[in-house]
Amino acid sequence: MIRINCPWCGERNMVEFTYGGDANNVYPGLSEETSEKQYFEYTYLRDNPCGPHLEYWHHVNGCRQWIKVKRDTLTHEVIATVPADKPVGEKE
Ligand SMILES: [Zn+2]
Repeated sequence: MIRINCPWCGERNMVEFTYGGDANNVYPGLSEETSEKQYFEYTYLRDNPCGPHLEYWHHVNGCRQWIKVKRDTLTHEVIATVPADKPVGEKE
């Protein structure tokens, strides 16, 4: 069972959260220089890493805040959690 440490609520069971996607995927922006290829890659292409990975999770059955979770996809160890607008490794 995965236990996720919500920055607002503390450690909770993962069933209180929903997975929100890859937190490394950066929106290419709206400009004339942005190509269809960049939008295609942003929308459809994902890495499938084996090891530490940065993910968005939504505490939907708790405080309803979005958080970033650094999780090892092989062992499911939660390495770090921060509010979604903060870089991992930096405290609020
Ligand atoms: Zn929470």
